[in-house]
Amino acid sequence: MSDDVRTGSNGERLFRGIAAAGGVVHARVLVLRQAAPEVAQRTIPEDGIEAERLRFQEALLETRRQIQKIQHKVSEAMGAQEAGIFDAHLLTLEDPNLTQQVVRRMTNDRVNAEWAFHEVINQYAAALQAVEDEYLRERAADIRDIGNRVLNNLMGLAAEQGLARMTQPSIVIAHDLAPSTTAMLDRSKVLGFVTEAGGVTSHTAIMARKLRIPAIVGLSEATRRVQSGDYALVDGHGGALIINPTDATLFQYGQIRERRAALDQRLLDLREQPAVTLDGHRMVLAANIDEPGDVIEAQRVGAEGIGLFRTEYLFLRPGELPDEAAQTTAYRMAAEAAAPHAVVIRTMDLGGDKLFPGATIEANPFLGWRAIRISLAHRDWFAAQLRATLRASAFGKVRLMYPMISSLEELVDANAILEICREELRNEGVSFDEGMEVGMMIEVPGAALIANQLAPHVDFFSLGTNDLTQYTLAVDRMNERVASLHRFGHPAVLRLIDLTVQAARRHGCRVSACGEAAGDPAFIPLFVGLGVEELSATASVLPEAKFLMRRLKYTEAVALAESALAQGSADEVERQSRALAESVAPELFSDR
Ligand code: PEP
Ligand code: MG
Repeated sequence: MSDDVRTGSNGERLFRGIAAAGGVVHARVLVLRQAAPEVAQRTIPEDGIEAERLRFQEALLETRRQIQKIQHKVSEAMGAQEAGIFDAHLLTLEDPNLTQQVVRRMTNDRVNAEWAFHEVINQYAAALQAVEDEYLRERAADIRDIGNRVLNNLMGLAAEQGLARMTQPSIVIAHDLAPSTTAMLDRSKVLGFVTEAGGVTSHTAIMARKLRIPAIVGLSEATRRVQSGDYALVDGHGGALIINPTDATLFQYGQIRERRAALDQRLLDLREQPAVTLDGHRMVLAANIDEPGDVIEAQRVGAEGIGLFRTEYLFLRPGELPDEAAQTTAYRMAAEAAAPHAVVIRTMDLGGDKLFPGATIEANPFLGWRAIRISLAHRDWFAAQLRATLRASAFGKVRLMYPMISSLEELVDANAILEICREELRNEGVSFDEGMEVGMMIEVPGAALIANQLAPHVDFFSLGTNDLTQYTLAVDRMNERVASLHRFGHPAVLRLIDLTVQAARRHGCRVSACGEAAGDPAFIPLFVGLGVEELSATASVLPEAKFLMRRLKYTEAVALAESALAQGSADEVERQSRALAESVAPELFSDR
């Protein structure tokens, strides 16, 4: 929970959250709250009503979970009495009369759940609005609020529609922003953002780094502590949100900004230089992208290719899912732009925090229907993606990668489908790279533990440290309450990496890493020392990574890794790694 760390007599208030994306910005604040979505009426066939009913039940459950979460936080921050106002919201959700009316409407009128619910909740609110009693009349607003929340959940939306209505450049404060929404943020309007939810490796935070939008996540109660119209300063390096900053504070941050700009220029001067340690150990430093257009920024900062193309963002755009032709165009564009370097096309990793509109909300999305599990269940989608990747391989150096593999069977199954796609294309006379490399992500601890058995089936492994850390330590990467436990430097994570590297060496496989830790200067010595050969990260952090690497000694990194593997404590490992990094590149750490 964030603390109101300092309230000055001058009206300045400082809150701390988790630094998610560097940069300093001072602007007016816009607080996003639950908005009313547009609801469309659809006719549902008789055999589809049951599915609608289930969807409705799930939306009610999800709303219940959200309200309980808010209630809990309010109770911690303001006491049980304040939190009691949410009891009425919960009671509304549990009202059997309401549920029955909605289900009856769906069944009798054959309409979609959103429409039926919208009609019924409007009747409730209108009835309350009409009564004499002022207290009851005010409850109509509560009913509308809860109704909007249920509708947003039914429609896979969030409070974020308010973004579309922004009129002036602002710092956005919201409970959460979906990664797909963050991806679409208008950079000229959203100057910075702060969310109550999330950790450093949530996809929203990753997206903020890509877009270079200063951001703070995990700042609890932010939407209650700040009002739209307040002026605030976001320090994305240090994770501080300062409301009504004084002139002295603005001056101090102005200096930080100038220092950063000078450093960024210095770092960029290295763009043509190789990522090599002082004692000649060569690494490959590549970029993570979400769309072909991102290759331009990757090249601007000197990336040697694309180590991770998160193709699921193509599926998160509004409109139709991209078919084989649309995907071929996207992958080909990326391959051609990145040439002569490689592009690693990861098959879609939907699920978790990347839900497409209308997706079923699960109780444990990160342990649920995600990534390769969806692909193997929807073989037509998967085949279209594999065929598109193969087609694109004729135009550049393309590599294919599967996410979230947790068993040998999944890998063998995926490769078998790939082989069928190859055979089809051969028969159709379509050219592709017969030698296209195939790899898989190591992001499930179980996969690292059987890396020896998986390695013969792939050309490379890529360590997805965001998920590998989440699953090894049982820490939800989205949950700000446990964000401090998401520790890449935990020796358990490092041992899994070591197992993977050793297995890969035995089988002549390469090992890369593409999680957020791979671009964090404080962790780079560990990757180098553990024998990871290629690091891939958001383009914006690559210049720092290269700067650091070129000042490291491989022998020192290996000694660090050996020591880390023998430790029991993440604190100690991270202290040692950061100390080494800071000793060779202190300028990278001065504002952290
Ligand atoms: C990871 O898990 O580290 C990774 C790179 O994949 P994503 O962040 O897209 O889950
Ligand atoms: Mg992952």
